[in-house]
Amino acid sequence: MLKKFKKLSLILLLLPNLLLASILVKNTPLPGGVAVIDFTSNHSSPKAFYNKIPLYVQQLKNQRWQVLIGIPLWEKLGTKTITIQDFSSREFAFKVKPAKGSYAEQHIKLKGKKKKYIKPNLAHIDRIKSERPILTNARKTFSPQTLSNGAFIRPVDGITTSTFGLKRFFNGVARRPHTGIDYAGDTGTLIKSPADGKIILVGDYFFNGKAIFIDHGQGLISVYIHLNKHLVKLGQRIKQGDSIGTIGQTGRATGPHLHWGIYLNQTVINPNLLLQAARK
Ligand SMILES: [Zn+2]
Repeated sequence: MLKKFKKLSLILLLLPNLLLASILVKNTPLPGGVAVIDFTSNHSSPKAFYNKIPLYVQQLKNQRWQVLIGIPLWEKLGTKTITIQDFSSREFAFKVKPAKGSYAEQHIKLKGKKKKYIKPNLAHIDRIKSERPILTNARKTFSPQTLSNGAFIRPVDGITTSTFGLKRFFNGVARRPHTGIDYAGDTGTLIKSPADGKIILVGDYFFNGKAIFIDHGQGLISVYIHLNKHLVKLGQRIKQGDSIGTIGQTGRATGPHLHWGIYLNQTVINPNLLLQAARK
């Protein structure tokens, strides 16, 4: 009886949150961070845009809403504006501040067969070109509905071997900064979905190796690369904690690890911002 009562009161307690599913993100208006702006609107579904790209908008309570803006790592500092559209169009400004300390450098040496990732041959270049639009389209997915709620959990327990935003050099050549977090782990270690969502990409690509993309709704997408095995299918709905694949070292990887990345409005952001919010 008491157990039943406890269960019921828990459901009642969670009910408002279920009705108004919202994710928790720390306000970090810096390159690679997320600007969080609250606004009021009595519209049933206000929309927001940054550089014409649709943004994640969530209802907090009644007429209180919140918009999340992923800020590119290469964004110039200073005042930016977003447009909110409900009954009319209005603009909100926010300031992009410098990140504390700059992102450190990381030098990676690729040897033997892995050298193809520095100097791809013509066949590799053809493959890279054919894969690019598939990956870009997946990152541009914008489902109007919200698919996840609350804070994210870590996809694996391993130690972090590369942090987000590192300035990367492969065999001395400057490449794109590190767009996610690397967790060390043995090949075959299970990877869990950090939040509810839908599988929008399952494939094997030149740089990423075996990869999975999860849509969490409204342009929030998480990516898992260098996998050993896929454990999900395209279009599958998943819950937080479900196993989606296993750690491997496919693609441009020097050892077994999980590369975990998060996209918000087609922009890579620091995945830790979704985890840290839970500890507030
Ligand atoms: Zn990585």
